[in-house]
Formats: sequence, C-alpha cells, structure tokens
Amino acid sequence: MIDALQPLINYIYIVASVLFIVGLKMLSRASTARRGNMVSGVGMLLAILATCLLKGMSFAWILVGAIAGTTIGVVASSMVKMTAMPEMVGILNGLGGLASLLVAWAEFHKWHAMQWASYHQTLGAGAPNSPLVTAVAMAFTAVVGAMTFSGSMLAFLKLSERITGKPIQFRGQQFVNGLVILLILAAAVVFCQNPAGGTTPYLAFGLLMLAGLVLGITSVMPIGGADMPVVISLLNSYSGIAAAAAGFIILNNVLIVAGALVGASGIILTKIMCKAMNRSLGNVLFSGFGSGSSAGDGAGVTGEANPISADDAYYVLEAARSVVFVPGYGMAVAQAQHVVRELGQALEANGADVQYCIHPVAGRMPGHMNVLLAEANVPYEQLVEPGDVNPVMAAVDVAIVIGANDVVNPAAKEDAKSPLYGMPIIEVDQARTCIVLKRSLKPGFAGVENALFFKSNTRMLFGDAKATVLQLVAAFKDR
Ligand code: NDP
Repeated sequence: MIDALQPLINYIYIVASVLFIVGLKMLSRASTARRGNMVSGVGMLLAILATCLLKGMSFAWILVGAIAGTTIGVVASSMVKMTAMPEMVGILNGLGGLASLLVAWAEFHKWHAMQWASYHQTLGAGAPNSPLVTAVAMAFTAVVGAMTFSGSMLAFLKLSERITGKPIQFRGQQFVNGLVILLILAAAVVFCQNPAGGTTPYLAFGLLMLAGLVLGITSVMPIGGADMPVVISLLNSYSGIAAAAAGFIILNNVLIVAGALVGASGIILTKIMCKAMNRSLGNVLFSGFGSGSSAGDGAGVTGEANPISADDAYYVLEAARSVVFVPGYGMAVAQAQHVVRELGQALEANGADVQYCIHPVAGRMPGHMNVLLAEANVPYEQLVEPGDVNPVMAAVDVAIVIGANDVVNPAAKEDAKSPLYGMPIIEVDQARTCIVLKRSLKPGFAGVENALFFKSNTRMLFGDAKATVLQLVAAFKDR
C-alpha cells in the first residue's frame, strides 16, 4: 500500500485507543463488563485492520497467523473449564511476552543483515535518528518479554497445581539473581554498541533472551501460594510493558498505547493486591528468599473439628437473623455460585439480613469471586468488603464459608511465622456461629493449616459445596 494512507491509519489508531480506554473503564463494573470486553475487542479489530494498510505487509503470512491464532483461541477458550480460567489467563499472558520477544528478535535479525542507515529507512518516517534508542528498545523488549514468558509459564504450573504452590528456594538464590542481572547489563552494553554484523550481537542478544528466561523463573520460584495474586498482576503488567517496548522498536503507535494501558492497569492491580495482603511489593518479591523451611505452615495446628449435618445446619440457618456468605476458590471448583444465590434468597425470604463478603485475593485470579457472584446475579448492594464486615462480625449470627480457606485463616493474625501473617482476613471466627463448607480438613493454596476448623463456634459441613448448598436449599423449600 502507499504512504498516503499513513494519516488515515493514525486516525484509526486513535479511535482504537479510545475504544481500549472506554472498554477498560467499562470492565470496572460487573454490569458493564461484558460490553466493555466487546468494545475493546472492536478496538483491537480496528487496530489490526489499520495495521494491514501499512506498507510492505505480507498478507499470506498474516492470513496463516490469523487462521492459526483464531482456531487455537476459539478451540481453547470453548474447551477450557471455568475453574481452569486462571491458568489459561496465565498462559495467554506468557504468550503476550513471547510475542513481544519475537518482534524484538525479528527486528534485530533484519537490522543485523544491514547497516543502520538502511535499517533506519525500513522503520519509516519518524524513526529515531540514533541507533542507540532502537537498540535499547530491542534489548529491553527481549529481557522483559522473556521474563514474562518464563515467569507466566511457571505461574501457570503453580496455579494448576502441577508443581507445588509453596516457595521453591535454593542456597545462594539471591547471588544467582544478582549474577543474572549483571549478565543482562553486560550483554545489553555489548549489544547496544553495535547490533549489526558479526556474531557478537547474536551472542549478546541470545544471552539477553536466556538471562530474561532464567530471571523470570528465579523470580517467581521463591514466591509462595499466598503471594501469587501479586505476582500474577505484576506479570500481567510486564507483558504490557514488553508490548509497549516492542511498539517503540517498530514505531507502532497503537502497540505503544495498548502496551502502556496493560502495563499501567497491571501496576494498579498489583498495588490493589499488595494492599489486600497488607504487604509491600518488595516484601512479596524478596521475602521468600533465604528461608527454605516449612516454618509457619501451621504444622502444629490440631484439635477436634465439630462436624455438622446439612439437616442441623438448616436449623442453625433457619434461626439466623443475619448471615454473611464468604466465598472462596472451592465455590469456583464446585460451581456453586447459582445455588449459593438461591440459598441467600431463601434466607432473605425467612427474614434474615444477607450479605456476601468478598476477599480481594479469594479464588485464583483477581476479581474471581466478583465474576462468579455477578454471573449468579447476586445484587451489587449485597456485596461487602472485609473492612465493612469485620468490625460488626461479632453481631453476625452465621458466617457461612463456601470453599474459602486461606482468606479466613486466623494464622494471618495469630502466627507471626505464617506466610499469611499480616494479611487482613475475613474474621469469620468472630461470628456467633461459623459454618465451613469444604470436603476435608486440608489446607488451602498457601499450604497453611487452618485453626478456624477447630474453634468451638465453628461447624464443619463436609462435602462438595454445590451438593451441600443444594441440600440446604431443599430443606428451606420443604419447610
Ligand atoms: P483456598 O485455595 O485457600 O482454599 C480453597 C478451599 O476450597 C480448599 O481448602 C478446598 O478444601 C476447598 N474446595 C475445593 N473444592 C471444593 C468443592 N468442590 N467443594 C467445597 N470445597 C472445595 O481458597 P481461598 O479463596 O480462601 O484463597 C485463595 C488462595 O489462592 C490465597 O492463598 C490466594 O493468595 C491464592 N491465589 C489467589 C489468586 C487471586 O488472584 N485471587 C491468584 C493465585 C493464588 P477441600 O479440598 O477440603 O474441599
């Protein structure tokens, strides 16, 4: 196509960028989230179509990529179970990093074969005059893209519980990380001096990629289960930063804008997650280093749990005037959100005041519980935050925990050695009665035993959450 189309392309890019921002804004409310996703999707379609108008596009390859990508995307997203969604998001995040890495690699390869003046011409109007700017963007994209890829793949393995969620540590881990960072700096200096000609730039670029991959693994490895929400949002941010940096290499405005939006929203999410866990980012990233022990997993927590039958739990609930539901990852596994809503309605019809308290890190991805409860049409006004409920928890008749564990574990308040220590929890142990729905006494994702199960006001209602809640709903109906 011709250069004359450039202004039109830029106008379309502006429209696409506005659609991304409007879509993101709409994602912040459950009622508009679906439409927001659609609006951003339309923005992305416009951006892709406009990019196809750029000079020198190889349509055959674009078609191959589009068909392969669309097929894999449609098949994977229609086959994935709702419970495996967090892992899928982890993979997609990693692939975003890999895509940016490949852009950097392809551009380096092109530059390597020619001198700066010729490569500069291929970048088109507005390209930076200094080769250093482009070389730095390439090195940066390679490292951050590689880190995002390997870190996200490791996060995927941890989330899918294919490997342990506990911190994986070895002696001298900090030293190895320091060495890798030094290697990155040295390779970047060598690469940026002259990316064209000879084997040295290839070696330097290869080292940058390799060191980025290693750093992604060594920085996610020592992070324990409870801190994973922070890591996931941070990796999300990295993938945006890598995309924006790739945009600076190929001078594509919409890639820079989209990457910056993902990078910035990832950082905001990271901040929210850190606040939810009452931790600083530095504390999350570096606290796992060096200990390597299982101290604080609550191994000494024992006692006699008080089981309760669904029939008896019905009588407790029937008498309750105030009930707080606390959903956790087990509700997602059981897909119990719809029946939980039904039970909530039955309790309301019985005269109880019903609220749903969502912990920000409950589930396996940010906003997990909000999405499930919105899907079940739980009214927005009934959703409350731990900070709203905790001060009045002692006046709550029944706190009913649906497959939550870490987010209600008193070790976060009581055991200074616990990996959960300091995280604000939902203080269900303070309610008059706490009923916990889960299948066993096993610990949650952080691997920390839970003393809540042995408290005198706790009743364990064992079984799959959906089946159990169905029994309770049936009891209210038969009344
Ligand atoms: P947890 O992982 O602590 O506990 C979930 C509990 O659900 C398990 O103990 C399990 O017990 C129970 N369960 C599983 N299946 C069922 C079922 N079918 N019916 C009933 N119960 C079931 O979940 P929480 O939501 O309390 O905490 C989330 C954890 O995940 C935190 O440690 C958080 O840091 C971490 N995390 C959160 C992310 C996020 O972004 N939100 C991302 C990554 C990690 P049992 O097997 O006995 O039934």
